[in-house]
Amino acid sequence: MSAADGFAALGLSTRILRAADELGYDVPTPIQAAAIPPVLAGRDVLGSAATGSGKTAAYVFPLLQRIDAAIRPALRRTHVLVLVPTRELAAQVGEAMIQVGRFLNDPLKVSVLYGGVSINPQMMALRGGADVVVATPGRLLDIVEHNALKLSAIDCLVLDEADRLLDGGFADEVTRVLALLPRRRQNLLFSATFPEAVQSLTAQLLHDPVRIDVTGEPATEGQIEEHAVEVDAAKRTPLLRHMIEQGEWSRVLVFVATRYACDHVADKLRRNGLEAAAFHGDASQGARTRTLADFKAGRIRVLVATDLGARGIDIARLPVVVNYDLPRAADDYTHRIGRTARAGASGLAVSFISAATESHFRLIEKRQGRRVERERIAGFEPTETASPEAATGGVKGRRPSKKDKLRAAAAEAAARK
Ligand code: AMP
Repeated sequence: MSAADGFAALGLSTRILRAADELGYDVPTPIQAAAIPPVLAGRDVLGSAATGSGKTAAYVFPLLQRIDAAIRPALRRTHVLVLVPTRELAAQVGEAMIQVGRFLNDPLKVSVLYGGVSINPQMMALRGGADVVVATPGRLLDIVEHNALKLSAIDCLVLDEADRLLDGGFADEVTRVLALLPRRRQNLLFSATFPEAVQSLTAQLLHDPVRIDVTGEPATEGQIEEHAVEVDAAKRTPLLRHMIEQGEWSRVLVFVATRYACDHVADKLRRNGLEAAAFHGDASQGARTRTLADFKAGRIRVLVATDLGARGIDIARLPVVVNYDLPRAADDYTHRIGRTARAGASGLAVSFISAATESHFRLIEKRQGRRVERERIAGFEPTETASPEAATGGVKGRRPSKKDKLRAAAAEAAARK
């Protein structure tokens, strides 16, 4: 079977098949094989697919094929709205739309809308309309309030990283966007995880959905090699340097808990001669875009990031992810380690565990349904033992207050000196 046959069997048109070929996609990934036919048929889809499983093309291919088949007037009406939780993911999905859009019969107009940058160029770009809008919810609402975009012709809504969009911080904005959309429309929800908290919302949103769950597919999961290395908190930066050098890691994404730690660890690594940069929400959008581009191009070897970097960002050939600090939530662990081993490549995920975080890591393991062997590295063996609070799982219950965080940051800084 030739490569394109795999995609052709899913009902994709010659033009979209050419796009797949041009992108170098030989064989559909499991989420693509399962989602493309129902999306083409106009069905609602609830897709649980691990990060890196190819879920973007799973909706971009069929939706653009449908747009291609329709007659489009010169003044574009927006038919497809993709909501995403972060600016980076917006840019990435927009780019995928543009790439595939080049193969359509009639040029595709894509508008990418996100906050943190001036609104005017985005509103200007919307003059003449757009076939597809990819947006973060807040900026989308601003633009609609400025009358720069009408949502009355949307016939397909995509929620990418839907768990984030339907949970906590975004839920209000997303609800406001939903109220502006036509009631009759197709809804596609994709995420690596669907925590219980968002399940009732998804049930309200979807109409007789096709449920697709490929999270258990060995194609991605089995190829992430997980390591848990025991080390004292104060020794983590030297250990990180040691592992980068010994392992000759060409590129590594390091997750830390706070913006402060981000800057601090990146700075320490730089002072020791490693090309490192910090990536967090305090930086301007321009700086974030540049840093990410430098990292993707290999000009930066170590990117130290908060969980902002954990979602949706697609960095090809990222061999190693390190949890310098463990994520608070078990779901974030999935998202973080999903940064490596994208689309079938293999990857390494290393978590640093100290006496104080051992019980929290056990919780993460429980949620993941697997255990990771603890390891020690010569010269970095831990000497600390767990405090009674940590031993009873103090990390789990209460969210740390601002004061707790300040105290922890100060203690951490003192430990690093
Ligand atoms: P996504 O999960 O959509 O972020 O995709 C993860 C990565 O897989 C991206 O770099 C895609 O370009 C790549 N990809 C998606 N589908 C395929 C495919 N069928 N074959 C090879 N690579 C793919």
